[in-house]
Amino acid sequence: MSSANNTLADSDVMDAYDVIVIGGGPAGCASATLVAQAGHSVLLLERQAKPQFKVGESLIPASFETLERMGMIDQLRASRFPKKYSVQFFSGSGKASSPFYFHETDPGDRSQTWQVLRSEFDGMLLDNARRQGVDVRQGAAVKELLFDGPAESSRAVGVRASFDGDEAREISSKVLMDATGQRAMIARQLGIRQHDACLRMAAIYTHFEGAQRDPGIDEGATLILQTEDNRCWFWYIPLPDDRVSVGVVGPIDYLIRDRQGSPQTTFDQEVQRCPGLAPRLTEARQSMDIKVINDFSYTAERAAGDGWALVGDAFGFLDPIYSSGMLLALKSGELAADATIAALAADDPSAKRLGAYEPALRAGMASFRQLIYAFYTPDFNFARFLKRFPQHRLAIVDILIGDVFDRDFTTLFEDLRQMISTPSPTSVAGVEGTVSGKAMTAAEGAA
Ligand SMILES: Cc1cc2nc3c(=O)[nH]c(=O)nc-3n(C[C@H](O)[C@H](O)[C@H](O)COP(=O)(O)OP(=O)(O)OC[C@H]3O[C@@H](n4cnc5c(N)ncnc54)[C@H](O)[C@@H]3O)c2cc1C
Repeated sequence: MSSANNTLADSDVMDAYDVIVIGGGPAGCASATLVAQAGHSVLLLERQAKPQFKVGESLIPASFETLERMGMIDQLRASRFPKKYSVQFFSGSGKASSPFYFHETDPGDRSQTWQVLRSEFDGMLLDNARRQGVDVRQGAAVKELLFDGPAESSRAVGVRASFDGDEAREISSKVLMDATGQRAMIARQLGIRQHDACLRMAAIYTHFEGAQRDPGIDEGATLILQTEDNRCWFWYIPLPDDRVSVGVVGPIDYLIRDRQGSPQTTFDQEVQRCPGLAPRLTEARQSMDIKVINDFSYTAERAAGDGWALVGDAFGFLDPIYSSGMLLALKSGELAADATIAALAADDPSAKRLGAYEPALRAGMASFRQLIYAFYTPDFNFARFLKRFPQHRLAIVDILIGDVFDRDFTTLFEDLRQMISTPSPTSVAGVEGTVSGKAMTAAEGAA
């Protein structure tokens, strides 16, 4: 679904904007749309001429508020994206938990969310941003970040961007927002990206057609299925057109470095080791080349500097297990947009003002991170944890839904650390031990 107004020529691009957003994924579209809604001039530069296939296809309920502020909910309701009401977990023996329905704990509008084809979803976000006043340019690649001195110690003042492959030109901004995803332009250039030593994971993934789908309300459910030795887990995400996204996640050494043969061979072997999954694919046809990504868990040391701010994966990415990526992309875009609007109103786009959203974002991410570390801890088991501490069930569920902002989960994490030795929730990137030995069993206990 590409945009009707996809103007590639740069002839009418202005020389200066209040805000330049680099990257047109969920984070870039959220921040650009919300800043434009406040009446500021915003240029969004997306290097792809048309939205492409991307991993990250399952939303979680707490994305609702940001999407609503952006004006996306009616479009999503009218879309062909499968509705997601629940998540279901399968153990290494193939045993299924009961589906966890979001409406059990949160019976409002947002108890249903969506499974999206990113090429279409990102196109909808870009079109929506354009309609709300953002100057959206696709096929526009940022080649260079401009600072008014050495990048580490000075103010960001704009970019050099190439439109449709033409020679790059300079455009200036009061605020530069990096939403370049795992490309993380600013954090890489400044050398402030910290990998999470506890999560050195890889993923191998593809799409299938004709795979088995559950009936009725469960048709759009995300399934999380562990392999028989619990070293890996699969996601199973129903998409439009009878398509299903299937991916396996596990430690890089196990899934990539120590394997003979191609990623396709490894993927096929792991499918056969996953009793919950293999029968669902018996009649299915793989409809896309296999794809691989690894070492995707990192956080930047800081979220903002003078004249710049980081959103979405350009700031950090945790792990795919709880489908938190797009929520964090949208929410960080929203939080950074509000900080930017306040900074522009005060005519002070300093690191201090722009970075006002960082504590809330970090706290939200830390809550997910604790449950992620728990998931990957050998011998840890959510069902056992909840048997000992039943009072924490709803808090865990709230984190799975994505209700992690402005929340205090101190007692949950204190009790969690009685059963696992994870880094504290406030540490930036975990360095205190490895928890990536295997995917744990009975995540279903949490649900
Ligand atoms: C294996 C795996 C599985 C995942 N599964 C899920 C899931 O089920 N649910 C979920 O919510 N999340 C999932 N995620 C995470 C999700 O994909 C990301 O968190 C999300 O896409 C981040 O959005 P973003 O806007 O920050 O970045 P992106 O969506 O990556 O967008 C960045 C954009 O910047 C553009 N860009 C880059 N460089 C330039 C440049 N120089 N000039 C102009 N444009 C540029 C790119 O073309 C791209 O469109 C998964 C991630 C992984 C690794």
